[in-house]
Amino acid sequence: MSTNKLKERLDKGPVICAEGFLFEIERRGYMSSGEFVPMVSLDHPEVLENLHREFQHAGSDVVEAFTYNGHREKMRVIGKEELLEPLNRSALKIAKKVALDTPKGSKPNLMAGNISNSNIWKHNDPQSQKEVEGMFTEMIGWAVEEGADMLIGETFYYAEEAFKALEIMKKTGLPTVLTISPMGENKMRDGKSVVDTCKELEQLGADVVGLNCFRGPATMFPFLKEIRKAVKCHVGALPIPYRTSEDYPTFFNLPDRSNCACPSPHGRTFPTALDPHFCNRYEIGKFAKDAYALGINYLGVCCGANPMLIREVAESIGLTVPASKYRENMENHFMYGKNKRIPKHMTEYGDKA
Ligand SMILES: [Zn+2]
Repeated sequence: MSTNKLKERLDKGPVICAEGFLFEIERRGYMSSGEFVPMVSLDHPEVLENLHREFQHAGSDVVEAFTYNGHREKMRVIGKEELLEPLNRSALKIAKKVALDTPKGSKPNLMAGNISNSNIWKHNDPQSQKEVEGMFTEMIGWAVEEGADMLIGETFYYAEEAFKALEIMKKTGLPTVLTISPMGENKMRDGKSVVDTCKELEQLGADVVGLNCFRGPATMFPFLKEIRKAVKCHVGALPIPYRTSEDYPTFFNLPDRSNCACPSPHGRTFPTALDPHFCNRYEIGKFAKDAYALGINYLGVCCGANPMLIREVAESIGLTVPASKYRENMENHFMYGKNKRIPKHMTEYGDKA
């Protein structure tokens, strides 16, 4: 039996995993919003590699291969099924390269293969479920061949799809993380409660169970408290950095109440006009600190994440990461700094401005 490197690290302390590649690559101009297919690993591998490096610099211990939506069904939707395997292998190779390239003297990071919500899974429909099983199996196979150290299954809103994903992941013997994403009805779409789903995932052998995506800190945290109490295994918490609320638990239906003169042409804030709902870095830091205090060691940020927020997660739980060199230093600000070299007329002006 090979050692479980993920569990070893989690038993000792926090493990940080940057997610949210979809939104960040789209913001950088290398992906079509709405369609959301990760062609970047083939079209602009250098862009993806660099984003991984930035997240790693900011403290991510896991380099998750960007294969989200890179599954057979999505490739059929865009009519490029022949690129499915090259896309997956390229994303995995890039992630592996970055994971092995950590600063001198530090241990390599963990490269994670990834499968996610298929969006064709249908409750009580063996035909669709068989198809999803095939999609997961081929992607996990490529992840193993490209040297994945662990596997992440994420963003599942059907409990049974998550169970199926875990069953396939477990066959490899690699460490597994399975995080789910309940929609606005606050339970899984096939009726199971969030906590029961996590308990069952633990029984099925996941090393980490928990939540990712769809929910911001305010509507994810209450579930995390219950999950932490209900399971013995490690728990994962990767919210979106948006201000969801009890009335609007997920980012799919957040209304823009700012009387925006330029609403999105598609009539909703998701996914391209969520900006006014963005959490500041301190809110994300507080979330991570509170989650860590609960005993949650697997932490990160999902859609909306950027390297600045990942550094905030790391520093809020007491870690120093390479990007800490450039952490906030208001001391030397030209108007608000306390440094003696700052001219008095400027700090006095700053007090008023
Ligand atoms: Zn996400």
